[in-house]
Amino acid sequence: MRGSRSIFCAGVFCGVAALLAGGSSADDIADRAHQIHFSSIVVDTHDDTTQRFFSKTFDIGKRNPDGHVDIPRMREGGMNAIFFSIWIDGRITGPQAVEKALDQIDAVRENVKKYSKDMVLARTAEDVRKAHAEGKIAALMGVEGGHMIGNDIRVLRIFGDLGVRYMTLTHFYNDEWADSSTDKPAHNGLTDSGKEIVREMNRQGILVDISHVSDKTFYDALEVSKAPLIASHSSCRALCNHVRDMSDEMIKALAAKGGVIQINYEKSFIDQAYKDTYDKVSGGAKEHIDAVTKACNFDEDCIAKEFAKYEKQLIEEGKLPKVSWEKIVEHIDHAVKLAGADHVGLGSDFDGASMPDGMEDCSKLPKITEALLRKGYSEEDIRKILGGNTLRILEQAEKVSKEMQAQ
Ligand SMILES: [Zn+2]
Repeated sequence: MRGSRSIFCAGVFCGVAALLAGGSSADDIADRAHQIHFSSIVVDTHDDTTQRFFSKTFDIGKRNPDGHVDIPRMREGGMNAIFFSIWIDGRITGPQAVEKALDQIDAVRENVKKYSKDMVLARTAEDVRKAHAEGKIAALMGVEGGHMIGNDIRVLRIFGDLGVRYMTLTHFYNDEWADSSTDKPAHNGLTDSGKEIVREMNRQGILVDISHVSDKTFYDALEVSKAPLIASHSSCRALCNHVRDMSDEMIKALAAKGGVIQINYEKSFIDQAYKDTYDKVSGGAKEHIDAVTKACNFDEDCIAKEFAKYEKQLIEEGKLPKVSWEKIVEHIDHAVKLAGADHVGLGSDFDGASMPDGMEDCSKLPKITEALLRKGYSEEDIRKILGGNTLRILEQAEKVSKEMQAQ
């Protein structure tokens, strides 16, 4: 078992140990990749696992037959820090949105308490490092969509106090103060109050997340924010032309201000043929999402199940092309070539997206490390991509927050 071997050996010594033990297929790269992966702090900035806490059949402490994330599989895949996404449909606004967001924040906190032997709530980069040193998984939270603060800046501060470490400025729909990439522009990017919210996020040390926002909102946020931005779960538009992905120009601009793009593994964001075919057979992805959401009466568990069922049916009928997990690595590599290894990370979208073949759940994460090593990436760069960059950007947001609060 690889898992037990890493405790006793490191790097090339693993290979020697395997040979001495009579192993005939010692593969130094595989062993080194395993050693690097399981000694790095692996951070995933976007997981929709939170929705599953409301399902009667889901238990994060046990290995589940479905979904992408639970504690046993996080352990197996070496996922050391997870951002639980706090998300509700963007058409739910005002006090109801705030209430539902609080339900989810509470569910994360309660589940972390329930499994406190394995998980601990983290707010800072230091908290994440401490959790790792203690052999625990660091649990962080990100609010996915500005509509959830109910257009009230005080709620943003309360969310921050409860442990929310990033907020995605919009989800699929425009909110009261920012345009989304998948809605008709209404505000020409960020409104004045949107800019005020970005500044307040800086003051609270809450990372500004530009996944889902329109290109104009991105450039506005980039100009206003005093701390670097993240794209918590976006991929590269040059490889798959989807509005949810970032253009080369945007990735370079994000990186020039110290930001990080965390690559999303969703098939329709990473593979052009898949996206085009899905759009065609579903009659438009957004229209399809709207129809399913309506049929499920906004019930998130029902929506997720309906999508899985629909996709399974299309695959069985041979209507969708296959997508390999290696596409994820292509997107990482593209972003690194453009912006450098300091500006790329992992934002799977597990439990909220359709995963490519070979990345069925978070237990498969070590494959990414091995693929990067085989591509010739240095150990240092791999560690940054796996989580170091996200920790650095958390620290930068903490520093900006301290400076602003001292003023
Ligand atoms: Zn999303």
